[in-house]
Amino acid sequence: MSTGVIFDIARFAIHDGPGIRTSVFLKGCPLSCWWCHNPESQSASVGIFYRARLCIRCGSCIEACPERARSLSPRGVARDRAACNLCGECAVACPSGAVEKVGRTVTAPELMDEIERDTPFFDQSRGGVTFSGGEPLTQPDFLCEMLDRCGKHDIHRAVDTCGFAAPAVLEPIVHVEINAPGTVMGDITADLATRRARIDGNEARSRGRMIVSAYVPLAEVTDYQNRLKALTGGEGSFTLQLSHYDPVPPRKQQELASAWKPAAGEE
Ligand code: SF4
Ligand code: SF4
Repeated sequence: MSTGVIFDIARFAIHDGPGIRTSVFLKGCPLSCWWCHNPESQSASVGIFYRARLCIRCGSCIEACPERARSLSPRGVARDRAACNLCGECAVACPSGAVEKVGRTVTAPELMDEIERDTPFFDQSRGGVTFSGGEPLTQPDFLCEMLDRCGKHDIHRAVDTCGFAAPAVLEPIVHVEINAPGTVMGDITADLATRRARIDGNEARSRGRMIVSAYVPLAEVTDYQNRLKALTGGEGSFTLQLSHYDPVPPRKQQELASAWKPAAGEE
């Protein structure tokens, strides 16, 4: 279970994907564009923001601060950053909105609870959840866990990203279940090993048959029907279902890159 830092959840959004959506804004961005419409989202951590133009110098924030980190200054109210523990009490006490706590840390199950409250709207409108920011890719583990969890609850997912992240080549991985006579299982698993497969398990079935299941890159099983026929003398069968995407190993990436390299004289 991972934790993330978010700075807002906007409900009933209609511009971030199909239907009615809940937009979750993650904190942190590797860029600092001067036209950014959410500059408070750029820092990856929780922050306390102060706007002097809204401050009425009432002193409520100074009284509310348990760490005595607030004091009057010629330019309004100062915050001793070393003493401040980011509790946000000053923002709660401020009557004019001059102090604002931006961001909060949430666990994936906590955020899931908040998202699930909107499920009736998603169901009615074919909507879902959009992860935005900041730049959501700056919290990849948290983002992936949330996408997984939403997927398991059948909630439509979208990611609003500028795409500024390290590039990676991904490939589809399928879950394969092979049903064959136990006498040829050694040959089948040896063959799977040459196909970059990860064996997931095997179990004995009646009449000497066995089931072996494995995760295999889709590119490695395009010819599998014929191969299994040859290995089992036509006695084997298999099912195949898309499971997830994995990064392509570096050696394979090089092979792909050279296959796509234009030949001399080609544009
Ligand atoms: S966030 Fe908490 S510790 Fe920091 S200045 Fe405000 S009240 Fe004080
Ligand atoms: S509570 Fe708000 S308005 Fe009052 S002094 Fe503090 S920042 Fe200014």
